[in-house]
Amino acid sequence: MQREEEIKEKLQHRGLKITPQRVAVLHAIYTLNNHPTAQHIIDFVHKKYSNVATGTIYKTLDTLVEKGVIVKVRTTDEAARYDGRIDNHHHLYTEGSNHIEDYVNENLDTMLKAFFKDNRIPGYEISSIKVHINGKYEEERETG
Ligand SMILES: [Zn+2]
Repeated sequence: MQREEEIKEKLQHRGLKITPQRVAVLHAIYTLNNHPTAQHIIDFVHKKYSNVATGTIYKTLDTLVEKGVIVKVRTTDEAARYDGRIDNHHHLYTEGSNHIEDYVNENLDTMLKAFFKDNRIPGYEISSIKVHINGKYEEERETG
């Protein structure tokens, strides 16, 4: 399995025991890459390990989110999406499709931090700022 060592390191780093289910779920998220839904992850895991219970996969996802190995991405859809990328980044949502793309821009981060430094929200401590950008590309574009 590709990246298996890396996956095991991530689990250990967060104080999680290495189990085949956790490795399989993380492998699915990193392979699917573009913010998969739980259903995408379940289908992917089941292709290779049909004996893993769906409930176990949900539980594994919860544990991985709780321990900060992955992030749950907020969407307007019912279905949660999961992100294997945990560094600070923003998301571009494509209108009329389920496509979510990472958006990384250090200038934006610096600007946002500076803004909230000057415009403190009384009694509120900001831990992270993620911008949810809606729109669509002007021209059809390969989105992989
Ligand atoms: Zn992302």
